[in-house]
Amino acid sequence: MGMKVVFVGPPGAGKGSQAEHIVKKYNLLHLSTGDMLRAARDAKTPVGLKAEEYMSAGKLVPDDVIIAIIKERIAQPDSDRGFLFDGFPRTVVQAEELDKALAAQGTKLDVVLELQVPEEILFTRLASRGRADDKPEVIRQRLVSYHEQTAPLVDYYGKAGNLVSIDGTGTIDEVFVRVEKVLDALNEG
Ligand code: ADP
Repeated sequence: MGMKVVFVGPPGAGKGSQAEHIVKKYNLLHLSTGDMLRAARDAKTPVGLKAEEYMSAGKLVPDDVIIAIIKERIAQPDSDRGFLFDGFPRTVVQAEELDKALAAQGTKLDVVLELQVPEEILFTRLASRGRADDKPEVIRQRLVSYHEQTAPLVDYYGKAGNLVSIDGTGTIDEVFVRVEKVLDALNEG
């Protein structure tokens, strides 16, 4: 069984870029709920069309929608390889449901990586990216959603004892060196 890793951090923290490097080096599945929702939206599925209303407003998609998508995904046999969750969980309810789903499979998360980046850097990074939901007013709402609904996860995983915080400032390569230190130690552990 491969490693099971959760990646938390505000929008613009660089989770997506780090995730690409991580899944390559450690041969993990990259499960990005943002990517899954954008694919569903582009395919115009009922879930995708519903999700789009929230995404374009910078709001979180309702928990039950996300939880159903993730449960279906981790039930696939390829999840034995290990996975990196990127953008999920985003609420304490999602985290609790993930813990339950993994426990039902007789497994649990190995580590939760928190990527820390100061707010003023986040805004600049997001505004220069140019995705449909990267308009200033939507970015502002996404940061609000993060603080209100996702930041409490840091506490949740802190109490669970599997949280490691990483400095997310600097270049992608500099940050990846810090990430590798944590994951290599775990692999050898
Ligand atoms: P970022 O990390 O840059 O904010 P993502 O690509 O992870 O962006 O997500 C884009 C949008 O998709 C979010 O603003 C939200 O509307 C929706 N979304 C993604 N993952 C979740 C989730 N786990 N729970 C609720 N909504 C989500």
